[in-house]
Amino acid sequence: MNEELEQAAIGAGKIMLVGIGPGSVDHMTQRARAAIAEADVVIGYVTYIKLVADLIEGKEIIRKSMTEELDRAVSALEAARAGKKVALISSGDAGVYGMAGPTYEVLFQAGWTPDDAVAVEIIPGASALNSCAALVGAPLTHDFCAISLSDLLTPWPTIARRLDAVAMADFVVALYNPKSGRRTRQILEAQRLFLRHRRPDTPVAIVKSAYRRRENIVFTTLDSMAEADIGMLSTVLIGNSNTFVRHGLMVTPRGYANKYDMEEGGATRDGERAGRSLSTGLLGWLETLQAEHAAGDSIETLAARHRLPADYIRDTLAEPVEVEAVAVEEGEA
Ligand code: SAH
Repeated sequence: MNEELEQAAIGAGKIMLVGIGPGSVDHMTQRARAAIAEADVVIGYVTYIKLVADLIEGKEIIRKSMTEELDRAVSALEAARAGKKVALISSGDAGVYGMAGPTYEVLFQAGWTPDDAVAVEIIPGASALNSCAALVGAPLTHDFCAISLSDLLTPWPTIARRLDAVAMADFVVALYNPKSGRRTRQILEAQRLFLRHRRPDTPVAIVKSAYRRRENIVFTTLDSMAEADIGMLSTVLIGNSNTFVRHGLMVTPRGYANKYDMEEGGATRDGERAGRSLSTGLLGWLETLQAEHAAGDSIETLAARHRLPADYIRDTLAEPVEVEAVAVEEGEA
């Protein structure tokens, strides 16, 4: 029998990439539990296998270490080709620094396409940034970034450039893989890069083992975060320039205070309108820019004032300002 017929005879296998969330059964999705229950083979890092111990009795278990990611994907493909349903377990979400990418790479290498008899399903889970944020308050309510400090597969200049860019652009940042036994200096370098752009008292929360037995949360600041206990199971959340800590909660404002007077019962501020862009939103800002330019400010002066590239300022000034569309977009304040 050729390979394809053989497969059809024994029933097609399946690879399920299961994100199990932070590591407590309560925070796993129904689909994640069902996928593990449905699997013939469960593959994962020992710690994660332990977390789902109650679901895997009687199944074939392949325990692999952290550094065997590609082997795990290869084992999954082999078992699926043999007609088995395989659950590959990742903590958090399988697509966030997890097994989803390496698995597709291995599959493509082996000639797999979406039409293949072997099906692939990715089951989303709450990533560490969601879990850690939920434990410390609401730090991610405005634009944020995730950066991994692991240089096992990424050159340091690449990591440092990204740290520098997001620190400059005032993103809230979740640092994954911040420190390990061997990688201790990366977090110090991250701190050094951030301090070039952010205030020393910028709030930082360090969450270790979120929703696990040894859960530990520390609030600190950018200039003293390196003294805190940070390890392999920690995620470091660095606030933006508006993030604050009150009553032990880290909060990043959405920006309501830009438009509404929170003290005066939420009255709309002068010059602002509910459901419309801010007066400093794109169109309002363009009008200001045109006026400043007309009043004699050079492109370079405007670029420095607004901390934007001169060629962007030049191109945008060259385009006429159009009147704002009337429709109010759903869900916008
Ligand atoms: N796929 C995972 C991330 C794997 S990378 C996810 O989506 O969350 C491993 C890193 O994730 C760790 O170094 C740590 O920074 C973070 N992490 C994973 N689980 C965590 C937890 N329970 N508490 C805090 N950080 C966690």
